Amino acid sequence: MILVLLGPPGAGKGTQAKGLEDRHALVQLSTGDMLRAAVAAGTDLGRKAGDIMDRGELVPDELVIGLIAERMDADGGPKGFILDGFPRTIGQAEALDRLLGERNKTVDRVIVIAVDDDALVARIIGRFTCAGCGEGYHDVFKKPKVADVCDRCGGSEFTRRPDDTEEVVRARLKAYYAQTEPLIGYYEQQGKVASVDGMADIETVEKEIDEALKGV
Ligand code: AMP
Repeated sequence: MILVLLGPPGAGKGTQAKGLEDRHALVQLSTGDMLRAAVAAGTDLGRKAGDIMDRGELVPDELVIGLIAERMDADGGPKGFILDGFPRTIGQAEALDRLLGERNKTVDRVIVIAVDDDALVARIIGRFTCAGCGEGYHDVFKKPKVADVCDRCGGSEFTRRPDDTEEVVRARLKAYYAQTEPLIGYYEQQGKVASVDGMADIETVEKEIDEALKGV
């Protein structure tokens, strides 16, 4: 199964992707995670992408398309993958269709996670991640069960993203509405879209997504 998670920053794509990995044995492919790893490793790509990410803008299509092309073969997983944060432009969606077509595959379902704008900024500013396993948490909405200990792997080191500040979040939202939201129409034309209410709690959203995946 090839699943695309679509929604603004803070909608819960990363959280839901992690849950889907556990429940459906799919593999999460996150271009944001790949780019952050490239920045941390100081690669050529990381140097090109870092400043753009710090401003909350989208990095050029050809860079992320190259990343996805590499990783879908290497890390795609036997049961398929979840695309989190890709595609983000019509150009990327067309490239994805081409890449999958060459492999006799197609996007099976596009889950749109809808969230009110006001909630997004609050959600993003409070979030942090386990450095060991990548599980996501939030200062208010999803604290670890035991303070400073990851529920999933028991790790005690956590990180916050440098682009999770209010100013950069606003720029990321602007990029989402200008460049990414039009993808909903693109995939609606292909009859692949299911929308879920991202304002609900995490477990309810999980159930709605599983419902949307029945029969895929
Ligand atoms: P994310 O972790 O998905 O929120 O992505 C963090 C940042 O990485 C974004 O604000 C963009 O600068 C960059 N990025 C991630 N995925 C893409 C993509 N598919 N196209 C362009 N830029 C991306």
